[in-house]
Amino acid sequence: MAHKSGFVNIIGNPNVGKSTLMNALVGQKLSIITSKAQTTRHRIMGIVNGEDFQIVYSDLPGVLKPQYKLQESMMKFIGDALLDADIFLYVAEAGDTSFHQEIIEKLNSSGIPVLLIINKIDLSDQTKVEKEIFFWKDVLPDAIIIPASALHLFNIKVIFEKLLEMLPEGAPFFPKDELTDRSMRFFVSEIIRERILVHYKQEIPYSVEIVVGEYKERDDITYITATIYVSRDSQKGIIIGHQGKAIKRVGTEARKEIESFIDSKVYLDLRVKVKKDWRNDTRELKRFGYDL
Ligand code: GDP
Ligand code: MG
Repeated sequence: MAHKSGFVNIIGNPNVGKSTLMNALVGQKLSIITSKAQTTRHRIMGIVNGEDFQIVYSDLPGVLKPQYKLQESMMKFIGDALLDADIFLYVAEAGDTSFHQEIIEKLNSSGIPVLLIINKIDLSDQTKVEKEIFFWKDVLPDAIIIPASALHLFNIKVIFEKLLEMLPEGAPFFPKDELTDRSMRFFVSEIIRERILVHYKQEIPYSVEIVVGEYKERDDITYITATIYVSRDSQKGIIIGHQGKAIKRVGTEARKEIESFIDSKVYLDLRVKVKKDWRNDTRELKRFGYDL
């Protein structure tokens, strides 16, 4: 049989479960997940290889109207993803039929097949889901629709098999032993950012960027230093917390998660620095790895 291979780009509104779905399909936690919108800032690829296929998933930020430059860059990832997809995995959430007209029009006119997932059906019931299937058939007439629960791994195999069926023939894009296009440094910074998303309120999580400095694998321990950049002086104190307790918690939890991710003992040294209004600073955004 001929080899199949392609890009499956995952798009949809914020917080519908795109990252959860990609991790479920890849079978590994590559993309961070929280209950907060805008957790995903980058395009993150997760690769699934078989003897005669390679699926390259791309998890993307949720679609939104940009309010600052960082969000502009987040939306550029989506613009790029509209160009290079072989299949769109459009994720909607049970009980929410809102969508961005512009994105839907692009999908409908792209000629690229769409697999629409109605996710989080564990929070809904069959009658409602059936109604929503009719609703989405109207919005995306050519899409194949599968209800699922990424969190409870319901219908994940069905989605995978459908994707395999839809995948075009072609040679693999990446070496067959690769799991992702991202470096260990990137995953370390994302794990730290996830802990910050979980533990801090309001605008704090959206104001931080993490930069991993040293990453040294020694015999029995991996030595990592990372800087947490905030955009205002007042945020620095909040991140550190009373007697350094808040940052200590972030450090301990992140270290444990990194240890299990890389299967090695880790020494993690966290620092906090102010980089005034970095989210609107083109030069800083570029330095942090965002494309504008
Ligand atoms: P994204 O912004 O679209 O990437 O969404 P995430 O994957 O970060 O998930 C957002 C929230 O929805 C998290 O709290 C997830 O645990 C939750 N979630 C994702 N999939 C499901 C699901 O199938 N059922 C339920 N009940 N929650 C889910
Ligand atoms: Mg996400």
